[in-house]
Amino acid sequence: MTDIYNSRRINILRDSVARRIAAGEVIDRPQAVVRELLDNSIDAGSSEINLYIHGGGIEEIRVVDNGSGMDEENLQKCFLPHATSKITDFEDIYSTKSLGFRGEALSSIAACSRLSITSSVSDDGSAFKLEIQDGKLRDLSPFRGPQGTLISARDLFYSMPGRRNFLKSPSAESALCRSTFIEKALPQLETGFRYFAEDKLKLFLPASDLKTRIVSAFAGLFHQNFIDTFSAETDGISITAAAGTPSLYRKDRKYIQIFINNRRISDFALVQAVDYAYSSFLPGGCHPVCFLFIDIPPEHVDFNIHPAKREVKFRNLPEIHHIVTDTLGSYLGKRNSFRVSAPLTGKQFYSEKQKSLDIGRPAAAVTSAAFPSSPAKDSIFRKQTLEEISSEISSEIAAEAAPVIKKGNITEPSRSPHPAAPGAPLVYLGQLFNLFLLFEHGDTLLLIDQHAAHERIIFDRLSEEKPQVQELLVPVIFCVESAREHFLLNSIEQFKQMGFDLQQADDGEWMLNSMPSICSGMEDELTAFFSRGIKNISELKKELYAMMSCRSAIRDGDSISSITALELAGAVLKLENPRCPHGRPVIQQITREQLFRMFGRTF
Ligand code: ADP
Ligand code: MG
Repeated sequence: MTDIYNSRRINILRDSVARRIAAGEVIDRPQAVVRELLDNSIDAGSSEINLYIHGGGIEEIRVVDNGSGMDEENLQKCFLPHATSKITDFEDIYSTKSLGFRGEALSSIAACSRLSITSSVSDDGSAFKLEIQDGKLRDLSPFRGPQGTLISARDLFYSMPGRRNFLKSPSAESALCRSTFIEKALPQLETGFRYFAEDKLKLFLPASDLKTRIVSAFAGLFHQNFIDTFSAETDGISITAAAGTPSLYRKDRKYIQIFINNRRISDFALVQAVDYAYSSFLPGGCHPVCFLFIDIPPEHVDFNIHPAKREVKFRNLPEIHHIVTDTLGSYLGKRNSFRVSAPLTGKQFYSEKQKSLDIGRPAAAVTSAAFPSSPAKDSIFRKQTLEEISSEISSEIAAEAAPVIKKGNITEPSRSPHPAAPGAPLVYLGQLFNLFLLFEHGDTLLLIDQHAAHERIIFDRLSEEKPQVQELLVPVIFCVESAREHFLLNSIEQFKQMGFDLQQADDGEWMLNSMPSICSGMEDELTAFFSRGIKNISELKKELYAMMSCRSAIRDGDSISSITALELAGAVLKLENPRCPHGRPVIQQITREQLFRMFGRTF
């Protein structure tokens, strides 16, 4: 080995060495080969593209398309450095709409794998097959094949052991290939894509609309009821969004994905614009699911600043930022206007509520769980409507012969079914701001946050009791990153005790076979939860129960009967820790003395 400190001689690197070094910029792992080959098949106008991965893409990556194909003359040139049919002059890069233009992908892949290309420009069965070894043409001869191109890159980095050492396990590399496959497929709705690993079909994305594509690409992760698609255009910039409803929030930004002219980019400013638009609709520290496909005239963006074209320079970033927040803001604003804003009762309430559900959460979420005062009947693991709950509670109260005071109906002496302080009646005064329940309790005015209180009650019950489990007729399938699989495998037993039957399928896919019945309608949140990076099972249990109780508790804006309100207050007064699972208080009080002082009255 040359001692670099003693040697002062300058060497001009051999072409093959220089080419291998340059190739490293474009091709650093199998995922990059997938990216470049899929780009080429898309640029060739294919309507069907199949990707085959073997051994995490290290053994072989094969892409088969039915695009324009290459004739003998083009095959002879395609693997040479700077060989491209997409541009001629430098300035062309600001007008081309193709995904490739640098003419360096095939030459880079040729420099670091065993490459073979079979291609035909017609459907008469005639084709040519090209074989490359160490970046050099080894054979080009007539072959048979349909119109289109089959490219196979085998033994990646076989001559570069240093680079090979940087690769992860085949399953991790294969997961990366799969996510690149999805990224490439998401914006190309008119093309059908198939992904095979070890010759097994893992993902089939036929030509479809955007919502279908997203739902099928992230199998089981998002239900279509939680995704809205819409488009807008301003000043030649068009945006198509597949926006998750606010109920689909996550702790990470993994599913805020921005595509500019059909390429996924990582531009934090635009991710922040999405976060900003959703910020007033999500709990603190949470992020939405939102896929944005932005089309910008090519002269307004420069993709030529990053080897993988992952970063771009915009001519007018603030304008794009503004269009993103505006478009998402008006979508979220419209959704929100469906919310019940004035107290409604009976049928009117439910039909109005249903309206908001049609574009948001599934119908199951309308229901609410019962309170813990009658454990035998209204187990929180069974979902009930508020009306059901009220009528059950009424009959219990009747059985106990405990009269109840309702506002405006003070005809009898009253006490709560569960008086907190014997002797001091709990009088329900009404609901404030559609959220706070007001009670007179002896010398005190009590204010209870109906959602937070109900959440705590359900949370406590979940932590204490064995859930009623519901078998799923069709298991929910979802994807899990390889780094997360280990944790899930080790926690299967604990999940079972919590009522979740989880089973590993293969290649990052998992199945949820059964779950607590209280979770019906929460499948998307649950699968998102299982694939989230929480390491410790007790922390996970706490967060999971908090999510489940939040989802099934009475919501802000739900109107509830006075009987239900009294029942809830009775349960709250017995709580050991009157805080919601996130730590917020569920009850506050103002004494008669404080109130008198506020008004300058002598007590
Ligand atoms: P670029 O895509 O930047 O032009 P590449 O090295 O990726 O450079 O490809 C070189 C050329 O090979 C392309 O410009 C195109 O003409 C041709 N080519 C590559 N893949 C295909 C394919 N799947 N179908 C048709 N032509 C292809
Ligand atoms: Mg290319």
